This record gives sequence, structure tokens and C-alpha cells, in this order.
Amino acid sequence: MTKRVQKKFSYLNAKSTVGKSALDVALEQLRITAKKINLDPDIHEMLKHAKRSLVVSIPIKLDNGEVKVFMGCRVQHNGARGPFKGGIRYHPDVTLDEVTALAMWMTWKCAVVNIPYGGAKGGVSCNPKEMSRAELERLTRRYTTALLDVMGPLQDVPAPDVYTDAQVMAWIMDTYSQFKGHKVPECVTGKPIILGGSEGRAEATGRGVFICGREAIKRLGMKIKGVEVAVQGFGNVGWNAARIAYDTGCKIIAVSDSRGGIHCKKGLNPYKVYEHKKKNGSVVTYKGCENITNEELLELECDVLVPAALENQIAKANAGNIKAKIVAEGANGPTTTEADRILYEKEVFSVPDILANAGGVTVSYYEWVQNLNREHWPLEEVNRKLENKMVKSFNDVYETAKKEQSDMRTAALMLGIGRVGKAIKTLGIWP
Ligand code: NAD
Repeated sequence: MTKRVQKKFSYLNAKSTVGKSALDVALEQLRITAKKINLDPDIHEMLKHAKRSLVVSIPIKLDNGEVKVFMGCRVQHNGARGPFKGGIRYHPDVTLDEVTALAMWMTWKCAVVNIPYGGAKGGVSCNPKEMSRAELERLTRRYTTALLDVMGPLQDVPAPDVYTDAQVMAWIMDTYSQFKGHKVPECVTGKPIILGGSEGRAEATGRGVFICGREAIKRLGMKIKGVEVAVQGFGNVGWNAARIAYDTGCKIIAVSDSRGGIHCKKGLNPYKVYEHKKKNGSVVTYKGCENITNEELLELECDVLVPAALENQIAKANAGNIKAKIVAEGANGPTTTEADRILYEKEVFSVPDILANAGGVTVSYYEWVQNLNREHWPLEEVNRKLENKMVKSFNDVYETAKKEQSDMRTAALMLGIGRVGKAIKTLGIWP
């Protein structure tokens, strides 16, 4: 980002979050932003806490006949702007703290792109890679029944996140619908198209990341053609961002997954890597590339770095080694507050998660609207709406950054938290 825009960096006064959780980072972001926008202290206090945190145990019969009990949760952070909205994550490291941070970020994200939702997130602590499809289906259906009282089209609408996909959403929709006695496609988004899913939803987060990266490239006066991109995490978000960038003329020089990464200075064809991963379970055995670690990928010489895996990947220890000119955050919370400060000092243009990866929740919103109206929009219409929404949101954040002479994350948080604060103030704190 230009020095003029990033003159004042609010995180200079940030408290250390080294070795702390995603929730510590989220609360520190809230504290700094509250101060900057003079948020009413009562509203600040409210926003520190989730409205509802539900922890459930999920006993399921494994294929070998044993019963195993999994921990699941759903956190509804704030619903002042509309029904709760947020993904469901299946991962061994899921904790209530992590899910609470992710729910808080969802609240700000929906406000940044100005869609009428509050923020929520769910998770189950499990390792889906070690579970059969039948076990995952039983887990999903049992988890859904545990959420029945708190979810619903006007209450809380889940979506996919790490290691959950359209099939998992189909099981959620079917379970919910079985209990209601009729089909309720609008109770969940990210469904298969045959069951009311939206065209373009599967790729929407990656497309949004690409649009934000492209806008940042323009702001730096660079040309999109030949821009070198490294992507950490070759899942839904990373793969789609990589393939859309590739189709637009960018050079994908590295990708990775949980097993490690591959680097090829002359450029990779992400479609071929995707086929390879589908067959072999990982990108790491793809021929003709240098094998690298996930840590090495982050520090590669490149123009755009897309972290699209998990939280806290760019931290105090490695931020100084980042060589990218732009970081477009596909993942939620990939950068710690100290790392933010270091990137700022290095004049890296960071497009924060609550803006860069908001394409997913945006098209989820379009899916919900289509379901409520029993409509199905063509792909071109969805993509056109997404393009307009992402560019407008990017410009809103960029202009706020310029006006406030701050970095992009501070600007996005100011916009998001500011809008949520205003909604709460207007509603009043009842009774
Ligand atoms: P996914 O399950 O489709 O893919 C995750 C990818 O990350 C996989 O390739 C996996 O191998 C890799 N990975 C896992 N652990 C890793 C590690 N330690 N190091 C490197 N790679 C690792 O998940 P996704 O939906 O693509 O989500 C990725 C990120 O994007 C998450 O932070 C998620 O919260 C965020 N996000 C997703 C969506 C969405 O619509 N799916 C929307 C907004 C944000």
C-alpha cells in the first residue's frame, strides 16, 4: 500500500498476542478499533461476548461398532444486523475459543460487505481424514439435531468451512427438513446446486479473494499479467483463487496443503495440480517442482501471497521474512497483530480477511435470497453481483483507510464494527 494511505498504523499500540489464541487476536482488534471509533463503552462490552455459545457432545457409532463422542459447538456472536451466519469447521484443533473468534470476525465481515446478517461459527473437533463417509454423515446429522433449537432460516444459517463441503450442507439441510416435515433449503447455504445451492457459491470465496488481490494490484500500479502468486492451502478457497488468477494471466508459482508445498518459478498449471491432488491426496508429489514446507512458501519471492489455510500463519517470527508486495487473506485470521505491524513497516499491502474472503458469505446471502424466493439465478448474474459487491467493499475500505490514514485492516474493522455499533445503538439495549 502506498505510504500516504498507510501513514498511521493503529496496531503500533497493540498489546502482544504472541502465543495467544485467535480469540485474543480478535479481542485485541476490537479493543483497538473501539478506541479509534469512540465506540460506546457499553456496546464495546457487549461485543466482547458472544450472544450464545452452545457446546454439545456428539456420540456416534463408528463403522467398527464402537461409540465415540465428539465435541461440537456453535457460537452466535452478534445478531443486531440480521440472522446469524457462519461456517461449520471439522478439524482436530477446533476449540470453543477459536470458534468464538471466527464468529466475531463473521459479525464484522457481514457488516463490511453490508449484507443483513449477524456473525456465527460452528465446529466439531474431529479428524474427517480418518473418518468414513458414513461416519461423517452420522456425525453431521447428530450435530444438526443438537443445533435444531438455535438454527433456522431466520435464526442461524450455517455454511461450509474447513473440511466441510456441499455434501455436509446437504445432510444438514435434510436433517433439519426431516424434523420440520417439509424441505427447508434456506436453513443452510453452500448446498449442492441440485438441492437449491447457488451457481457460483463453491468458487465464491476464491473469486472474492482474486477480485481483492486484483484491486490491490491496480492500486500499486502493477499489471495483472504475469503477476507471481503463492497460495498456502489448496482447498476450496486456495484452489479457486489460484485457478481464477491463472485464467486471468497470473503466474501461480507455489501452492501447498497440510502435507507441504510445491514451488515452480516458471509457473504451475493449477488445474493439473488439482487433478493430481484429487488422485494422490496431496500436492506434494506433483512432478517437476521443488518440494517446500508451508513455512518456506510464505517466505517466497512473489508479488501476491494468499494464505488460505488456517489462523496465525504469519506471526512475529516469520513476518519479517515475507517478500510479497500484497497479502490477500483467504483464510480467517492468518496474520497476528504483531505480524500486521511488521508487514505494515515493510509496506506490504495487506487485504484483511474480513474483506478479502467475504465473497463466500456474499454468495451465501444470494443463495439464501434465492431459496426464500424459490428462484435460481444464472451464474453470470451471481458473478456480476459478487464482482460489484466486492469492488464496492474494497473501495469503501480503501477510501476509509485513506481518510483515516490507516492500514486496510484497521479501516475494515472501523467500517464493520462501526456499522454493528450503530445497529445496536439504534435498536437500544433491551429491556
Ligand atoms: P478446505 O478444507 O477446503 O481447505 C483447507 C486447505 O488447507 C486444504 O488444502 C488443507 O490441506 C490445507 N491445510 C490444512 N492445514 C494446513 C496447514 N497446517 N498448513 C497448510 N495447509 C493446511 O477449507 P477452505 O474452505 O478452503 O478454508 C480455508 C480457509 O478459508 C479457512 O481459514 C476458512 O475459515 C476460510 N474461509 C473459507 C470460506 C469458504 O467459503 N469455504 C469462506 C471464508 C473463509
